[in-house]
Order: sequence, then structure tokens, then C-alpha cells
Amino acid sequence: MITELLKKASVAELTKENAVALLQTKNGSREFYDLLALANEMTRNEYDNKSYIFSQIGLNAQPCPMNCKFCSMAESNYVMDGTFLKTMDDIEDILETVRQLIAAGTHDLFLMTTAHYDFEEFLNISREVKKVLPDHIRFVANIGDFDEDKAMLLKETGFTGVYHIRRLGEGIDTDILPERRIQTLDVIKKTGLELYYCVEPIGPEHTYEEIADEMLRARDYGVEAMAVMRRTPVPGTPLADKGRISSLELAKIAAVARLVTKPSRSMNAHEVTPLTLSGGVNQLYAEVGANPRDLVQDTAGNRGYGVLAARDLLLDAEYEL
Ligand code: SF4
Repeated sequence: MITELLKKASVAELTKENAVALLQTKNGSREFYDLLALANEMTRNEYDNKSYIFSQIGLNAQPCPMNCKFCSMAESNYVMDGTFLKTMDDIEDILETVRQLIAAGTHDLFLMTTAHYDFEEFLNISREVKKVLPDHIRFVANIGDFDEDKAMLLKETGFTGVYHIRRLGEGIDTDILPERRIQTLDVIKKTGLELYYCVEPIGPEHTYEEIADEMLRARDYGVEAMAVMRRTPVPGTPLADKGRISSLELAKIAAVARLVTKPSRSMNAHEVTPLTLSGGVNQLYAEVGANPRDLVQDTAGNRGYGVLAARDLLLDAEYEL
């Protein structure tokens, strides 16, 4: 069965049922490694063995009213070790961080905020960041939901793409309606911004059907840069007790996502686990500033990898940068 599906994956689109069947592969079995091998082969062949480092700067750490039950910055459950807010007053600091990330070898630069960060201020900062970004570096916003007018403003500011997802458990583990997330996804597509997608945050309780739905959603939107992320059980958050999936499980889900979604540029699994680099992952994230999975305000040097560490891992896996 798995062998037949792997043959099909090379030449045709997989259905949701196919995706679920692949996700049911026993971790550590021969079929598990066959699955990783195919994802690896497709990535190395189709992407010419190229790999990428995306860097994200979290601009604020403040109580967020969206109350995601896995997030260290949820208003109902704030467990980060303090708060901070970067504004135009901090622009020189922000630009210095951007310059360092560029010099270290960042391919795509992301700016992230909590859901209610002031949009005008975000644009003001982004205009300054855009001025120091070389043309070949893609510029990506990771912010709350927005409408078409705001999408156009993001484009005018110089953003090439947006990280946006319908989370697993959206509307149950978060205070955001899934429909609102879909509206924003549609706006991103309609306005010609590149959508960066991720199946996240994957916990042990999520079904393979739910996970497969997000892989197909990403495919339907024509995603070029795809990702999967396991949920980090942040101490003190409501979902921490549910635990986390293993790195083998994450590697399997990443490999299946690679086969089902068939992103045209890159595949990521987060947080970094070396095994996934043998299973079709060719893109890693470096993180600076706030991070919903961390308890400290600057994730760099804590949960967040730096660009150089990501670079070392990709080169060690015999990828080119
Ligand atoms: S994950 Fe994002 S939207 Fe959800 S509470 Fe945290 S900062 Fe807010």
C-alpha cells in the first residue's frame, strides 16, 4: 500500500485519503524510511539541492487578546518573562539586526508581531527595513488578520509575501474564527502576495485527517514555501500538558507534506531537528526577538536558532546555499 502511494506521489497528486494513509506509516519502519527517502530525493532533484535560511524578527512581546492556548504571549495566560514593544523609536536597533541577518546569509526576511500591533507603525518600520534589504531578499509579514486594503498597503510597502495559516484547532484553541483566517488567506492570494504556509502547531491530539486537510489547503493556494511545526509545550500554557509529538513523527509529517503539497521552492520543519534534513526539508528558520514558543523575550540564543547555526546544519546535510 505505502509502496504504491509512493509510486503515485512521484507522478500524480495525492488525495486526502492517500495523505492519511501515508501519515499512518509506522515510525521507524522500512516504509517510514522509504517515505523520507522519496521526499529527500524529490527535494534534492527538484530544487537543485539548494537550501534556504529564513530569518524572523519578533517586534513585540505583549499580552495578545487572541489567546492561543499554546502561546507564551496569550493575554489570558502570559508566561513570557517580561514585555517589550519595538517602534520607530527603535528603528536603528531594528535595522542593525536586519543588517546582521543579511550579512550572515538570510534569504527571506520576516517581521512578526502579535495580532494587535499597530498596523501603521508596522508599515513605518517596514518601509525603513525595506530600504536596507537587497532586492534578492524576499520580505515577509507575519501579523494578524487583515483585509484587502491592508494587503495592498503591505505590497506598496515592499512586502513580497505573508506568513499566514489556518491553525490546527483554530477557534477552539484560539479566539479567532477559522473563517477569518481563510478570508485573509484569500486576500493574500487575490492581491498577489506570496503565501508562506505551515501545518501547525501539531500536537499529539491532532488527527491525521486534520493534518492532511492543511496540506491540501496549502496545495490549493499554490504555496511555494511549505512548512510543518510541532507544538512546543510551553510551561504554564493550557496545552502544555498534552505533550509533544516525537521528532520521528515530525519527520514523517514533513515528508508527507512534501509529497502532498509539492511546494515549488522549499520545505521546512520546525523547530529544527536534523532528521528532517534527510527527509525533504531544505529550509530552516533563524529567530530573533519575541517567539510564542519561548519564555524569554529574545529567543536568539535560547529556543531560536541563529543564521549561522542554520547554515551549518544545511551545509552538513550536503545542501548548497
Ligand atoms: S500565537 Fe499569535 S495570535 Fe495567538 S496569542 Fe500568540 S501572538 Fe496572539
